Amino acid sequence: MESLKNKLIKFMSGRYGMDQLYYALLFLALGLMVINIKVNTPILMVLSDGLFVLIIFRSFSRNISKRSNENDLFLKIWNPIKKESRIFWRRITEIKVHRYRKCPKCKKTLKLPIKRGKHRVNCPECHENFEVRVII
Ligand SMILES: [Zn+2]
Repeated sequence: MESLKNKLIKFMSGRYGMDQLYYALLFLALGLMVINIKVNTPILMVLSDGLFVLIIFRSFSRNISKRSNENDLFLKIWNPIKKESRIFWRRITEIKVHRYRKCPKCKKTLKLPIKRGKHRVNCPECHENFEVRVII
C-alpha cells in the first residue's frame, strides 16, 4: 500500500511546480478576489478565476523549459522593479541619516551622509568627481 505522500510525489514528478511567477500570480489573484469582495463585478471574478486556472496549469505542466522561460521573462521585468522599490523604501526609512544621489557617469546610486549645502563627491565605482546639493 502506497501512502498518500508517495502518491503525491509520484504525481508531481516531471511536473513544473512552483516558482516566483507562481507566487506573483497567486498574490495578484488573491488581491483581485479581496478587491472583488468590495466592488463585486463579474470582470474581476472572471479575471481572478482565470489567474487561478493559469496558476494550476503552470504548476502541473510537464513542459518545464517553457514554464522556466516564462519565469525568466517575469524575473527580467520584476527584478528591476523590486530593486527600485527597495531603494525607494531605504530612502524613506533613512531620511534622517542619509541622502541618495545617482552618479552622472555610471548611474550608480550613492548613499551619502547628510551634509547640507553644495559639496563635491567622489564616486567609489567610476571615480567621477561631481557636485551634489543637499537642501533639506
Ligand atoms: Zn560613478
